[in-house]
Amino acid sequence: MITTLRTDITVKDICDGFVYNQLEGKGLFGLSGKLTIQPEYQRNYIYADGKRDVAVIDSMLKDYPLGLIYFVKIAADKFEVLDGQQRITSFGRFVTNKFAVKVDGMEQYFESLAPELQAKILNTRLTIYECEGEEPEIKSWFKTINIAGVPLTNQELNNAIYSGPFVTLAKEEFSNSQNANIQKWSAYVSGSANRQEFLECALDWVSKGKIEDYMALHRKDTNINELRTYFTSVIDWVSTVFTDVESEMRGLEWGRLYETYKNQPYSPQVVSDQIKNLYADPYVKNRKGIFEYILGGSTDTKLLEVRVFDEATKKSVYAKQKAEAEKKGISNCPLCAIGNNTNKNKIWTLAEMDADHVSAWSKGGATAIENCEMLCKTHNRAKGNK
Ligand SMILES: [Zn+2]
Repeated sequence: MITTLRTDITVKDICDGFVYNQLEGKGLFGLSGKLTIQPEYQRNYIYADGKRDVAVIDSMLKDYPLGLIYFVKIAADKFEVLDGQQRITSFGRFVTNKFAVKVDGMEQYFESLAPELQAKILNTRLTIYECEGEEPEIKSWFKTINIAGVPLTNQELNNAIYSGPFVTLAKEEFSNSQNANIQKWSAYVSGSANRQEFLECALDWVSKGKIEDYMALHRKDTNINELRTYFTSVIDWVSTVFTDVESEMRGLEWGRLYETYKNQPYSPQVVSDQIKNLYADPYVKNRKGIFEYILGGSTDTKLLEVRVFDEATKKSVYAKQKAEAEKKGISNCPLCAIGNNTNKNKIWTLAEMDADHVSAWSKGGATAIENCEMLCKTHNRAKGNK
């Protein structure tokens, strides 16, 4: 990796060709068009609050340092700002008379400042690291530096590392908060377009979790057909199988579920009824598990974390079973008692037994004392696996 420390670039250089998009709230370009200030994946400009933006200008007027700025070199003489967008957009907006600061108690726009103060701002030199090189190097470097302010997410880093035509197109699709599909996606994917979470999810699904390999492989692609098609297929499948949108659906591993169950037929009406029943069931602790439970044929109750019998119930049932077993001279595990091995007379301790639903919970059996039976651990496990 090549890192170059630049101290020759001034505010004036950056502001040459500075474009601020009022509508999107973004500083877009500068440095005579060579610099992209806020690439699509970056958060919008948030310094326009009359405090943080003013503080940037005050710093320059008082000769305070503005701090390090990081550029990524994406092509010959083309750069993107990795860190420093907010500061750059602040002075860019000030120099183009978008806001005023107080100088000696007077509100002043740039154009009304004394010429020597204008010159002071324009001639302020910035401290900029330019970096270029192979992905692994840049990546480890990005992770090492302590970027000020809100840290970049993993996907923001990956976008910088694997920047190229593929990332540009992918960001247009998945990181664009104006995309009309965002609302639909939000039902199933958590996060926001601005912080790259939809893009991260789409890449995660299509790559089966190997996002970086996928980005490296497709870096030079000039289309995102596979990424878009796969993501759309998953979303369409989910919204077809599950016609009702529940808040617990957000952020589930739909890519994995799609791969596992996409070839199974489901009746949306039956599925919808099953969901309503499970949502109404007070014994279901984990509602997020309902969807996978249904997809898998309503057998794996572990996914639902069905409420278990409490200790008082277990103790009470244990005492009753033990007393009856001792009277009859048989084991207090009903299944051991009807068996033919050495355990048929064994009285197990409470610690050696587990509570079981006599009538299975999945067949409507309640988690109530009348439906509780204590079994030795071996029999409980054997029954639970059926
Ligand atoms: Zn037993």
